[in-house]
Amino acid sequence: MPEIRALFWDVGGVLLTNAWDHEERNLAIDAFHLDKDEFEKRHKESVQPFEEGRISLDEYLQRSVFYQPRTFQPEEFKQLILSLSKPKSDVLEIARRLRGKFLMGTINNESRELNQYRIKTFGLAECFSLFVSSCFVGIRKPDERIYRMALDFVQRAPEECGFIDDRPVNVEAAAKLGLCAILLRSPSQLKSDLQKFGVEI
Ligand SMILES: [Mg+2]
Repeated sequence: MPEIRALFWDVGGVLLTNAWDHEERNLAIDAFHLDKDEFEKRHKESVQPFEEGRISLDEYLQRSVFYQPRTFQPEEFKQLILSLSKPKSDVLEIARRLRGKFLMGTINNESRELNQYRIKTFGLAECFSLFVSSCFVGIRKPDERIYRMALDFVQRAPEECGFIDDRPVNVEAAAKLGLCAILLRSPSQLKSDLQKFGVEI
């Protein structure tokens, strides 16, 4: 088995809570009394360009929330979104222990503003030197091109790269290309799966 040289991590649901998934959207729907069906329909229509970096957070909110007059301001809505991001300390600690031993990168689906806020707020650049975020590269997981791009960036064979994600579909796509892919279920399971690939914590 080739030695692992690079580790790629999903961010939402792995290193941090999700940025803007069902749970976060439901909290915002309740807090701002939005019509859930209408909002979700509009979210679905704009989430791809939003996460591929083709529209800004302002444009996304304009399309999904502020297409009609509201009693609250976009800034209040943004503050709520940002306040929902929390670290997943156990997994962050595992990643921190591995920095310096492996080339550390992310492969994640996130919009530009939330991604940059989260990188800065949680000090991710201290642990990771490469951010293959959908908003920077214009491709989202599980499209295989995003994994190929990450391999091109680090110039390593798929077997030399680990990948950790909390969604089966993303893990399956990485495994299909030959990466050592791990579906995260718990911090202890992550440690033992990393050890199976020769990565000692
Ligand atoms: Mg995730």
